[in-house]
Amino acid sequence: MKLWKCAALACLTVALLAQAAFAGPVWDTIQKDKVLRAGIMTNSIPGAFYDENNEWVGFDVDIAEEVAKRLGCTLERVAVTDKTRIAFLQQGRIDISVANMTHKRERDKSIDFSITYFFDGQKILCKDGKYAGWNDLVGKKIATTQGTTSELNIKALLKKLGDPNYQKNVISFQDYAAAFNALKMGRVQGFTTDSTILLGYAAKEPGKYELVGDFFSDEPYGIGLPEDESKLRDAVNFALQDMWKDGTYMDIYNKWYGPDTPYSFPMTEQIEMWP
Ligand code: GLU
Repeated sequence: MKLWKCAALACLTVALLAQAAFAGPVWDTIQKDKVLRAGIMTNSIPGAFYDENNEWVGFDVDIAEEVAKRLGCTLERVAVTDKTRIAFLQQGRIDISVANMTHKRERDKSIDFSITYFFDGQKILCKDGKYAGWNDLVGKKIATTQGTTSELNIKALLKKLGDPNYQKNVISFQDYAAAFNALKMGRVQGFTTDSTILLGYAAKEPGKYELVGDFFSDEPYGIGLPEDESKLRDAVNFALQDMWKDGTYMDIYNKWYGPDTPYSFPMTEQIEMWP
């Protein structure tokens, strides 16, 4: 074979391989195995947690189950934490991450995201009746969790409010349970993260805690996806939009955040719909 023919063949092979990779190996495996592996939190109340019967339940659990069903798959639930939910996607240990994860441009450098499927923001939980607003918390110790937007946002807020020791006053715990426990034991005066997670923990001991001050960030949640998996991303986005359209989304929402739940959080937004 002439040299130029060999070169052309090599180029063609590389191009075809690149195309195959771009089509999405994760999507192909999901299609073949009919199993969707979702990273889900275990102590995010009421997003994804173990209830009193030791059942793994919550809004994110139901969303993940419904997305899997609409993709024609069974769901394999994989426990993730704030710190592992991105790494597991990058390592191929999960196909999607439904883990109360805010989509941020910074995070988008290493993974992809679906459209927004939940709208929250950050607040501060304190013992009931102790503080009137954020300013009362300047100079106080505040708990949050490692590897979250909450950690960054609270430091920025305390700095803005003029706390010179804002770095030291924010204490980052491994998980929400530990952060809540620190508040309970009086080791910190506030616990901060997304408002619905705070509602979830406050509901463990009704009447003892309250949210102090208004929202100080937007936390739009996206389903985390592996990079360069456009077919998977489309399928997940379409599943979310179809769920919204046929009412399934609001059924799940009201089950966990409706007015009759301990975590009542009125829906004020609308997910992005493509006609
Ligand atoms: N949603 C925020 C984040 O993605 C904070 C709460 C959390 O996910 O733990 O970092």
